[in-house]
Amino acid sequence: MCARVRVNVSRLGRRTLSAMPVRFLTALLAAVAFLPALPARAETPEPPDRIAAAWRTDHLSVDPRLAIPATELDRIRGAMRTAGLPVYVALVPRTPYLAKKRLDWPTLLHARVGEPGLYLVALVDDNYWSTSAELYRQGGLRGRDLTSVRAEDKQRLDLLTDRPAPQIVRTIQYASTAYDGRALPAVPAADLEPERPHRGLSVTDKSDRAAYVGLGVGGFLGLVLTLVIALRRRGAPKRSGSSQRAVDPRDVQLKADGKIKQAERALGRLDRRRNKTTKLLDQRDDAYRRLDAARTLRADQPEDVLASAGALVLARQAERIASGAALQPPCFFDPTHNPGTAKVDWSDEVEVPACQQCASVVRRGDTPRGLLVPAKSGLLGGDRKGVPYWTLDPEDSPMVATGFGALSDDLADRITGRKEDVR
Ligand SMILES: [Zn+2]
Repeated sequence: MCARVRVNVSRLGRRTLSAMPVRFLTALLAAVAFLPALPARAETPEPPDRIAAAWRTDHLSVDPRLAIPATELDRIRGAMRTAGLPVYVALVPRTPYLAKKRLDWPTLLHARVGEPGLYLVALVDDNYWSTSAELYRQGGLRGRDLTSVRAEDKQRLDLLTDRPAPQIVRTIQYASTAYDGRALPAVPAADLEPERPHRGLSVTDKSDRAAYVGLGVGGFLGLVLTLVIALRRRGAPKRSGSSQRAVDPRDVQLKADGKIKQAERALGRLDRRRNKTTKLLDQRDDAYRRLDAARTLRADQPEDVLASAGALVLARQAERIASGAALQPPCFFDPTHNPGTAKVDWSDEVEVPACQQCASVVRRGDTPRGLLVPAKSGLLGGDRKGVPYWTLDPEDSPMVATGFGALSDDLADRITGRKEDVR
């Protein structure tokens, strides 16, 4: 994954020079002539120093390399004026340097400015805006946690990310609600992503996603095609007979609901932590994204065993991420097994994660029993005979298409129909 930022250097040069009065420039050049040679660091102050200096004259700092439409800036200024608390905003391009450093912007900036208020930094990577914010209060002031206000906003995942104002204005509104308890207004429709189809990704999303994970579009589609062919070819375990009963959906539902509760508790603990680093904020967002998808699956298809198993996987991942543990894929053969910590060959082209037990079955040359679900005909007749879930049509279910996220880690996005929210 590489961060790309298009920077027009010649435009930057023109703009900076034309903004400076000529007399001042002349004076500056005269002064520079008498300065002793400075270390290189002093000539390029760290980005937080530059922003803190800019905020002395204007609480909205826009990096000169960015060309932000005036309408966007006007909206941000409007929200800052009516916030009811001091608001500091900086718009910054995510340079390769910043992508590597992963700065905890609000903490660094508050340390330099030292005043209470909302500190908000919006970073743009190519055309994708993400924000990082923290609310600093004077000692003893009561009020709500900024992150809990945000977490309760059902529209937070639908905000547009291709321009800065939607997220910045919304974050300022969160801060006002956290600060003085005022009601959170509705988001204007123009700031929200258009409704997306509930299931599957559009071709555009697939290309976006492919670009995001660093694969070419051809690579991504090729992978999907290979998987579909491989899934079909391998088929069911050889010893299938009438004794192969489908899993009891109620067992999976109970497991999923229990795991959702555990994930909620883990996220509650994370939300209560003060002064979260950027890394913790990213973990929290990733965990919420997976938990939201898990809840959606349980709410939309409460009886469906595929949906319940998908919810179990996503809630388990949300709990791990919220607790600071590494993400684990599920066992491809049965997502209700232990996580897929081993890798086994599923076909010549495809390697899948598997739990230790399934991995040893594959190494013996057998196909694991797998998660058995009712075949479609069995649903009507009450027949409990099960078939391995991977023999179902991947087109019909994001759980089948992704192996419950074992084949590609985009199950949550396919459920909520959204792109990755890297914040
Ligand atoms: Zn397994």
